Amino acid sequence: MKRYLVEPGKKFKLSERNPEDTGDFEGGKKEGLKAIVELNEKLQTLQELLYAEGRHKVLVVLQAMDTGGKDGVIRRVFDGVNPQGVKVAGFKVPTAEELAHDFLWRVHKVTPGNGEIVIFNRSHYEDVLVVRVHNYVPEAVWSKRYEQINEFEKILAENGTTILKFFLHISKDEQKERLQARLDDPTKHWKFSLGDLEERKLWDDYQAAYEEALKKTSTVHAPWYVVPANRKWYRDLVISRVLVETLEGMKMKYPEPREPLDGVVVE
Ligand code: AMP
Ligand code: MG
Repeated sequence: MKRYLVEPGKKFKLSERNPEDTGDFEGGKKEGLKAIVELNEKLQTLQELLYAEGRHKVLVVLQAMDTGGKDGVIRRVFDGVNPQGVKVAGFKVPTAEELAHDFLWRVHKVTPGNGEIVIFNRSHYEDVLVVRVHNYVPEAVWSKRYEQINEFEKILAENGTTILKFFLHISKDEQKERLQARLDDPTKHWKFSLGDLEERKLWDDYQAAYEEALKKTSTVHAPWYVVPANRKWYRDLVISRVLVETLEGMKMKYPEPREPLDGVVVE
């Protein structure tokens, strides 16, 4: 999955990443969905182990253009995990109280504790994306945030948090189809806002803002993956693989029993 990394310190052009890509995966959608089921079973076991061991913290950041598939990833990749150890934190337009603090205030308090996985549905990156595109704060303010984000994520990492950041990369045409599909389906109207059409007009500005954010904040301790996301199954496959490989790499073990259990009989 290394091919989807934004390599720290290297040149990076978002336009050179193909949202249609399916890598070297041999099969099509049908095989892809089968592979996701297998990975999902592994993820469930690994998450249980993470929770039982209670040593590691995992932060998964999801960012995307509207309709990019953040909700779909949360539903499908994390299907069947134990809600006791997995939380989702969504970030909306900041409240007055949040705006009265620094931009990381609302973020830090919902980061994962020991044994937890927290999924960020949007994140502190909105503060260098939507905020930059709309000039909600002056450039002098947002331009300092890349470094502040790197420092913040370093604090988390040095205190035992594994950070994985995924940008779900769709094409402008794909977004058009998905917005149209939402319009055509009354059960999807709740997801549709006229504001999404205004944001779509700013597509190029957003791509530029994403490119800069991904380039400046992909670090060894908190790397970005640009996930090809036009095909939902491939998007889910890539994220499932990165998660499973990362959790397997932690070499976790179930904790030793609190007391010796040899010869213990349940009467
Ligand atoms: P949704 O995820 O579709 O429910 O929409 C949440 C909205 O909140 C999106 O339009 C985001 O761009 C917006 N949002 C999230 N964080 C911020 C922020 N820090 N400043 C301004 N808008 C934000
Ligand atoms: Mg939305």
